[in-house]
Amino acid sequence: MGQNIVVTGMVLQVMPIGEYDKRITLLTKERGKITAFARGARRPGSQLLAATNPFSFGEFELFEGRSSYTVARASIQNYFRELAENFDVTYYGFYFLEFADYYCQENNDEREMLKLLYQSLRALMSTAYDKRLVRSIFELKALAVNGEAPNVFSCLKCGKKEELLWFSQKRGGAVCAACAGGVPDAVRIEESTMYTMQYIISADIGKLYSFRVSDRVLAELQRLLAQYLAIYVGHSFKSLKILLEAEQLVSAGDFTG
Ligand SMILES: [Zn+2]
Repeated sequence: MGQNIVVTGMVLQVMPIGEYDKRITLLTKERGKITAFARGARRPGSQLLAATNPFSFGEFELFEGRSSYTVARASIQNYFRELAENFDVTYYGFYFLEFADYYCQENNDEREMLKLLYQSLRALMSTAYDKRLVRSIFELKALAVNGEAPNVFSCLKCGKKEELLWFSQKRGGAVCAACAGGVPDAVRIEESTMYTMQYIISADIGKLYSFRVSDRVLAELQRLLAQYLAIYVGHSFKSLKILLEAEQLVSAGDFTG
């Protein structure tokens, strides 16, 4: 016999099943990433219709069967509706969901990732932050939460903690000025970029979205992270491709016509 459990989480992904049902992927505090069936959730007027859309965050009451979960009820605290309505940021939001989906596992403690996802979506909706910076912060912190962040606190060759002005993708982190000559792929970076990476990796998730950087530092951060992700994650995210295409169109001015 199964039983009902209540979990707190966010809908990462939705798949239509049959005529009226959905299968959703949930990132939960209690059970990590799980999938659940939502019967009748595509019927007009269903209580689960909006509750089982991507981004919906709240409490889900699930029937735990032998091999699957079924959503019985949901009480949503935040639908993140502004994300879906403003398509400038929608792409970013979907990329964060796909990233979390790729990284998280069932029955794993994913509380930090859930918190990061929630705070990052809130930052996306706020006009106070450059969404490109929000993306870089999310990516680097997600790597840190999963223990895959670059080592930016000491030189990878000699262990020194000062003058960390060089970065090696191959070695995955910082190199000091004295050692840089011996690391062929080391590139010189801005001191502020190194500080920014150190801050993102070490700060509490609740305090992550509290700073701005210059355009120059942001561009460097984006470039470093894109290369780092290509090497250490090596996954091509569909939503990121769409996001980058949309940004190219915007910068080319094609959206104005
Ligand atoms: Zn060194």
